[in-house]
Amino acid sequence: MDISEIKGNENVKRVLEIALAGNFSILLIGGRKSGRSMFKEVAKSLNGTGLFITRENKCKCNYKECICTHEELKEHYKYLMDLWNKDYDMYCEVNYPDYNQLKRKQEDNASVLERLQKVSNFTSLECSGKADALLKSFYEKMEQTPYDIKIVIKVARVIANMEQSEFIQTQHIAEAIQYRIFEPLQKLQ
Ligand SMILES: [Zn+2]
Repeated sequence: MDISEIKGNENVKRVLEIALAGNFSILLIGGRKSGRSMFKEVAKSLNGTGLFITRENKCKCNYKECICTHEELKEHYKYLMDLWNKDYDMYCEVNYPDYNQLKRKQEDNASVLERLQKVSNFTSLECSGKADALLKSFYEKMEQTPYDIKIVIKVARVIANMEQSEFIQTQHIAEAIQYRIFEPLQKLQ
């Protein structure tokens, strides 16, 4: 299946590309027919053999317009958090695209593969001083575990490689953190 068949969800395509480059696992969360399964198919087509994608419903009702109560949402997100804490490197929400995005021409597998072929040498990059400071505050202020930090560095290192940067910089860490935290639950509380 070609990635151009998936409309919108540019953030998920980005996560998929990083995961393909670094062989990470992803937990995709979205509503019914939002396109979660399509990403799994596309990953296969892009040769993501070691890539592990799991899909979960965004909420209990699973409709485009959510009818869950506040408590139901909290309960469901806590359940997702438990899943998330166990196994996955990256978390990403799949959303219904805007109508305009349905008509837009999308990038195809060939262009993604071309970019992926340029990515290599993941191990040599170190964090810049500022990037390290950001990691430190993520660890201390947001009560993350050593394992979270390990994953964030791994993901950020791949992103830095994709951008052909010589160091892992602040923006690479910031992006990797985005894929590690579960925002919906924090908003509800
Ligand atoms: Zn709902």
